[in-house]
Amino acid sequence: MTRYDAVVIGAGQAGPSVAFSQAAQGRRVAIVEMAEPGGTCLNHGCRPTKALRASAVVAHSARRAADFGVHVGEVRVDFGQAIGRVHTLIDGMRAGLQQAIDEAENLDYVHGRARLVGDPTGAEHRVVVTADDGSEQELTTSEVYLNVGNRASIPPIDGLEHVPYLTEVELLALSELPEHLIIVGGGYIGLEFGQMFRRFGSEVTIVAGGGIAAREDPDVQQILTDLFTDEGVRIVEGRPSRVSGDTSGVSVEVPEVGTITGSHLLIATGRRSNSDQLGPDTGLETDAHGFVLTDDRFATNVPGVWALGDVNGRGAFTHTSYQDGDIYLHPPRTVAGRVTTYAMFTDPPLGRVGMGLQEARESGRRVLKAEIPMASVSRAKLESETTGVMRVLVDADTEEFLGATILGLQADDVVQVIGVAMQAGVRYPIVRDALPIHPTVSEFFPTILAALTPLD
Ligand SMILES: Cc1cc2nc3c(=O)[nH]c(=O)nc-3n(C[C@H](O)[C@H](O)[C@H](O)COP(=O)(O)OP(=O)(O)OC[C@H]3O[C@@H](n4cnc5c(N)ncnc54)[C@H](O)[C@@H]3O)c2cc1C
Repeated sequence: MTRYDAVVIGAGQAGPSVAFSQAAQGRRVAIVEMAEPGGTCLNHGCRPTKALRASAVVAHSARRAADFGVHVGEVRVDFGQAIGRVHTLIDGMRAGLQQAIDEAENLDYVHGRARLVGDPTGAEHRVVVTADDGSEQELTTSEVYLNVGNRASIPPIDGLEHVPYLTEVELLALSELPEHLIIVGGGYIGLEFGQMFRRFGSEVTIVAGGGIAAREDPDVQQILTDLFTDEGVRIVEGRPSRVSGDTSGVSVEVPEVGTITGSHLLIATGRRSNSDQLGPDTGLETDAHGFVLTDDRFATNVPGVWALGDVNGRGAFTHTSYQDGDIYLHPPRTVAGRVTTYAMFTDPPLGRVGMGLQEARESGRRVLKAEIPMASVSRAKLESETTGVMRVLVDADTEEFLGATILGLQADDVVQVIGVAMQAGVRYPIVRDALPIHPTVSEFFPTILAALTPLD
């Protein structure tokens, strides 16, 4: 048994910064990780997918090169080389984090799966860590920081347990391009992978119950549906009732359309909390999805236990998880009132902050809308990237920004103009009257904010 001043479970986005900070204050800290440092984002989430996306964007640009007066000859994708590039980048980043952990004073890296045992109401918490070989060690501490994240949620489809389906983890471990990738799920993970693999040359079918990007505004859904269809991705609206197959191929029965056969099956139907991995008697209060409930400074109902990142259900992104750690380390900051911004890295990307159309309509406020198609944005025209729309919603009475939806060139960055304005409580006339740089996408915020119309 080893005693620590603090034990961090999970070396994802929030855990390492909390561990480094505590250790730097001279406290004895352990960080327990059952897989690899860096968590989902570094190992099989944001970063490898965005690195792979870069190859897909290059392939797409190369195919369009002649439109720009550049002739590159036949475009051939070497998937093995593209994924090799990803692994090289990620291995380097992971090694850098591992080195920083190993070199930090007062910080021990403990590899294994942690669970909380004993009386959760006691002043000392007991953390049992099971290593890959089954051996166990016990850590005791008065402070536990949970940064255990989430994992792919596997839907109850008949036959699925007998099929070698992929999640993002296995997909990113492939070295050969799937001939026909069937993706169940039309959220951001399914769409990002779907577009990439299509651009690499796979046949791609996306099966999505409510259509793709179902949480986004209807015009965004339609633009993405048209974009994906034009690129040759087949979108099937329906819910699989049964799957069968083996390593040589899979069949997915979708009552609405019939049977779809492919070479690989990716399940991307949402995420579930890893809190269930912490043992049956944690005493932690969770919601119906297993997210650990916390107060605005991430304290759980169990004294001496905090929950940071995806596991607390207050965000589902790397930036929210990382910021949880930052907020915790800088009292009296709290997470209350955080304006969550996110992007979906299709090409072009979707940038989102605050309310969408439906939420704005249901808000009971008088809402004004500022909108322009990307086809009218000069920078987008200059780059022949005219797919998409820019939309900003404001409160007619308070002049507050309510939200922004930007699908189009550089939207992942451009949306942050409104995100920062919202976080800072800036009223829309300030942005309307600001001097923008020409020719940029953001230069259209002043233009559209000068022509607001009531939201129907
Ligand atoms: C394919 C994909 C693409 C994504 N793209 C983006 C993106 O572009 N931008 C973005 O912001 N977000 C993206 N995300 C989401 C992002 O990866 C997560 O929101 C983020 O990683 C959450 O960080 P976290 O620290 O809360 O948890 P994680 O990063 O999941 O870290 C949790 C860690 O805890 C460990 N762990 C769990 N249980 C235990 C236990 N009992 N004992 C020991 N260790 C344990 C896990 O092994 C893991 O390393 C993507 C996710 C996926 C799957």
